[in-house]
Amino acid sequence: MKLKAGIGYDIHRLVAGRKLYLGGVEVPFNKGLLGHSDGDVVVHAVIDAMLGAMGEGDIGRLFPDTDPKYRGIRSVELLKAVMSRLKKKKYRLVNLDTIIVAQSPKLGPYINNMKRALAPVLKVEKEDLGIKAKTNEGLGPVGQGKAIAAWAIVLLKT
Ligand code: MG
Repeated sequence: MKLKAGIGYDIHRLVAGRKLYLGGVEVPFNKGLLGHSDGDVVVHAVIDAMLGAMGEGDIGRLFPDTDPKYRGIRSVELLKAVMSRLKKKKYRLVNLDTIIVAQSPKLGPYINNMKRALAPVLKVEKEDLGIKAKTNEGLGPVGQGKAIAAWAIVLLKT
């Protein structure tokens, strides 16, 4: 058995007039994340962690934001495409851990929904998914509510 770890990070600006998608679910809020896709930073960080573990570059290389095909796309659809690459290379996800850094809204009540949305896509149990949310203690652009960031780490096995 071969094990491969990968790390991912993403940050998007919060703007008015967009829905907020995090971890594959819509979170009620008065702002959303700016992006070519739905701006789901959690899923983007997860995708980058997986591509990193497979040695396949990053999300921007695979799904360029200059391509109209990906405009407004739900990021979970991009994750599904990455999962089929993973399957093709005979990898399986062992587990995944993430940190979402958001000053607001409070994400605690949505964590379980995120796990429920992502587990079937990632072909793992909910227990294999770590999703943790924290504020940035008011510090920097994330702390001032101008952006939301996410970190992810994955472990793959063949
Ligand atoms: Mg992104």
